[in-house]
Amino acid sequence: MEKRQGKLVVISGPAGVGKSTITRQAVARTGVALSVSATTRPPRPGEVDGQAYRFIDRPAFDALVAADGFLEYADVFGQCYGTPAAPVRQALEAGRTMILEIDVQGGLQVAAKMPDATFILIVPPSEAELERRLVGRGTETADQLARRLGKATRELAIARDSGVYKIEVVNDDLERAVEEVCRLVIG
Ligand code: 5GP
Repeated sequence: MEKRQGKLVVISGPAGVGKSTITRQAVARTGVALSVSATTRPPRPGEVDGQAYRFIDRPAFDALVAADGFLEYADVFGQCYGTPAAPVRQALEAGRTMILEIDVQGGLQVAAKMPDATFILIVPPSEAELERRLVGRGTETADQLARRLGKATRELAIARDSGVYKIEVVNDDLERAVEEVCRLVIG
């Protein structure tokens, strides 16, 4: 009998919406696999290569693109991010669930190749709340903040217009949002 294919779950949402926290907690609680993206962005303090990201330089990234090594890739704020294809294929063939936490541009590329994946959009309770959270992170300059807010608003509009993200999880309460994502991941 053919082995059951694993489930692919794509989680997207604007910066500052809490998607990384929700994703990490959902992974810890459900034990499903999380894809490690490659990126050309430099590591932030405390980020270890191979954990949240594989940090590579632009020539290495371009070589992977040329070798068809990415399931999807995108330019986010001038840095390249991509999902290595092989680990996703292997996980799904082994019947394992895998989560990709990627931006909407990437999510739409995945939808074109794997329309049966589960697409979850994490949304803020309101735009004002998103702005408050982005400011609160304190990691961006005023200029970066304005760019991130603009991208956040556009990203939400594109995701909604695409019809790909059929599930929206409102991050009004972290625990409630994590539980909802866990149910979607294992369901
Ligand atoms: P950060 O640099 O703050 O970790 O991530 C910036 C953005 O890039 C986030 O929206 C994140 O979801 C997205 N991202 C991370 N990895 C990937 C990836 O492999 N592909 C795409 N398309 N976006 C990614």
